[in-house]
Amino acid sequence: MTARGNLFIVSAPSGAGKSSLISGLLKDKPADKQVSVSHTTRQPRPGEVNGQHYHFVSVEEFKALIAENAFFEWAEVFGNYYGTSRKVIEQTLEQGIDVFLDIDWQGAQQVKKVMPEAIGIFILPPSKAELERRLTGRGQDSAEVIAGRMAQAASEISHYDEYDFIIINDDFDTALGDFIAIIRSQRLTRAGQIHTHNDMLNDLLAE
Ligand code: 5GP
Repeated sequence: MTARGNLFIVSAPSGAGKSSLISGLLKDKPADKQVSVSHTTRQPRPGEVNGQHYHFVSVEEFKALIAENAFFEWAEVFGNYYGTSRKVIEQTLEQGIDVFLDIDWQGAQQVKKVMPEAIGIFILPPSKAELERRLTGRGQDSAEVIAGRMAQAASEISHYDEYDFIIINDDFDTALGDFIAIIRSQRLTRAGQIHTHNDMLNDLLAE
């Protein structure tokens, strides 16, 4: 019997390395892990593919989806709308697949309210100077956007204590190892193991 998948909320200030860690986790396309593809009204960045990185929609389309109650959670971040589709999450968890939500603290609060068993992971950069260096080094956003995101970073970081786990992304491989350890540990909880190994436990306990 396959246990229901776990829902992981992954948040971080922009530039902490969240996307790279999630990509690293899903590099070999594991059958038991999937990242949720959000809807957004922001413009695609170079290299971003519709349906893969985000579902890029207009503000009108996004508002229609809100009206249809299609979102598990949604929020306005940096002046754009972002939302997680309700149906996909439910269907995927039912199949025993772990789902990863790359969302901000506002979305995390909404998810925790409706699904308290969701596991929150917050990723921090090792310092403010390193965060600024990474945001500048990415080279995809203007100086004005970078300055705006540095200001937003402090506000995002102030919510770190609402999460169950914290990963410091100084050395990438160490951080990825920490990420994998957290996910694995959630498969090994007593409740999860009882669900997955019910027959084996019954056999072990039989007279
Ligand atoms: P970006 O525009 O850099 O891809 O994302 C900006 C911020 O929006 C990030 O903190 C990201 O986690 C957050 N975000 C992306 N998708 C969603 C979503 O579906 N819901 C919420 N609440 N935040 C999201």
